[in-house]
Amino acid sequence: MVQVVNSNSFKGISPIDLMEATYQASGNFQVRAFFEAKDEILKTGKFSESEFYRILDAMVDAETERKLVLERLKDKDPLFLEEIVKEIKDFPADNIIRDVIYLKEQGYVKEHVETKTKMVVKKIKGEEKEVEVKEYFYRYQVKELPIEQFFEPVSIVFKAGVCCQCGWCSAICPVNAIEVTADTLDIDNDTCMKCGLCFSVCPRSFSIDQAYKSIKKLDKSLNWSDKIGAYVNTYTASTTIDEIKEVRQDGGVVTSILEFLLEKKVVDAIIAVQHSKDIWKPEPVIVDDVKDLYNTGGTKYANSPSLKIIDKAKNYENIALVGVPCMMKAIEKGTLFPSGLPFFKNIKYKIGLFCMESFPYTDLIKLVEDKFDKKINELTKMNIDKGKFIINLTSGEELNVDLKEVQSYARDNCHFCEDLTSDYADISVGSIGSQAGFSSVITRTKEGEKLFNDVVKAGLIETKSLKEVKPGQGLLERIAGTKRKKCKPIDLKQNKIES
Ligand SMILES: Cc1cc2nc3c(=O)[nH]c(=O)nc-3n(C[C@H](O)[C@H](O)[C@H](O)COP(=O)(O)OP(=O)(O)OC[C@H]3O[C@@H](n4cnc5c(N)ncnc54)[C@H](O)[C@@H]3O)c2cc1C
Ligand code: SF4
Ligand code: SF4
Ligand code: SF4
Repeated sequence: MVQVVNSNSFKGISPIDLMEATYQASGNFQVRAFFEAKDEILKTGKFSESEFYRILDAMVDAETERKLVLERLKDKDPLFLEEIVKEIKDFPADNIIRDVIYLKEQGYVKEHVETKTKMVVKKIKGEEKEVEVKEYFYRYQVKELPIEQFFEPVSIVFKAGVCCQCGWCSAICPVNAIEVTADTLDIDNDTCMKCGLCFSVCPRSFSIDQAYKSIKKLDKSLNWSDKIGAYVNTYTASTTIDEIKEVRQDGGVVTSILEFLLEKKVVDAIIAVQHSKDIWKPEPVIVDDVKDLYNTGGTKYANSPSLKIIDKAKNYENIALVGVPCMMKAIEKGTLFPSGLPFFKNIKYKIGLFCMESFPYTDLIKLVEDKFDKKINELTKMNIDKGKFIINLTSGEELNVDLKEVQSYARDNCHFCEDLTSDYADISVGSIGSQAGFSSVITRTKEGEKLFNDVVKAGLIETKSLKEVKPGQGLLERIAGTKRKKCKPIDLKQNKIES
């Protein structure tokens, strides 16, 4: 998780500048809306009074800092984020990057995008060829005539057809105005107090890619790949536990890590998914007992709005969460914005899965009927491997079709997703790159790397470097790069879905 240092202290800022900036910050629409709705917020019981003030204080501090950053950027030429952090010394570099990106969304800063092309040599079907590659450069400059933008509730994201149904906005909304299911999103307009917090944290509202890249590149101990993002190490791994081998999807690495976390009481609960009463329809669950963990093993290819239950787990001191890349991004965004302070401080580990696409549950049923002439309750496993969609049946039979044949059943909103390997997780796990019975693992944070090594030391997992095996990291990077390239741009002005 990107840990943004909350400056909280404005040491070195003159009292007059600080007073002026705090005065301006208190007029920010988001701060005002949150403050004015205090009674309604406390009535819902989502946040206690002390949590309410913790969030409000952090919002005022972050907004004050943004006003000061804005002041220091005035009259400057367009600058790269890296140049801006060198220019402004008053705050930690992470904060400044986060501030500039938010100031852009708030309407105060303009992003200048420059495109350059360069020729690179690539191996295509075994032959080396020169191909043209586009590179994008982003600079930021204060607008001459800024107009503050008010963030709309996320119905705008849903109506544009780009909502990934992660459920995060529903967990965050301080007055419980949002209801998210695997296919729908509804906002109660009478309850909504137009704070725009849901927009700030939504993974599909505005991009955090530039902030992510720049913040991660500040940490010289991390490796960087344009295709799989920032990482500490990459591994191939498999569980050593026989019971997990019975329920796992690939290497059983995810369930092994979760078992370690619960057994060693590193966390008190896990958010994962299990089959609902409709088999293969995932249902998000809070697991606080190891004996219930094995119900969560294996991949359900229908999407699950898992993040909507995070607020239900807030009474646990520490939790870990398993989810697909869009969910990892959602939580990261809620840590960055609006204040650099997470809404739920107890999320200790994010275990991200690789994900090329997911399917609406009804279309998954149809896919199984159309392509295999089977009923979904006859299946014991579904898998995507080596370009095939594979099913295993209660009869013991295994059938497959080309992945291309089933892609039309996938969710449209997955076409707006650029992340295959859960860039924003602490540990990412998937099958691409590893042999059958193994998972590919990317550790992305120091905490994630330590956790993975602790699980290996405890004997729950056997592992070696992903660079030592075939097809290995090369294939993973190629497929991840293809997903980034194919990703469609998001346009919130479209109105594709009638509410
Ligand atoms: C929708 C989807 C698409 C995927 N696509 C790819 C892909 O294209 N390429 C690739 O390499 N890997 C993909 N994966 C990941 C892969 O299928 C395995 O989940 C991963 O390799 C971990 O295997 P494991 O044996 O370690 O996990 P296990 O030990 O079996 O644990 C699986 C974990 O996944 C969670 N889970 C299952 N279904 C869902 C769901 N719908 N939403 C959220 N969490 C879920 C469970 O709660 C469990 O904790 C996908 C996963 C999902 C959920
Ligand atoms: S729906 Fe969004 S804008 Fe409305 S109150 Fe909830 S978080 Fe705020
Ligand atoms: S936070 Fe998730 S569920 Fe909510 S609008 Fe954004 S993408 Fe959709
Ligand atoms: S492809 Fe992206 S949007 Fe779709 S389920 Fe996977 S992570 Fe979410």
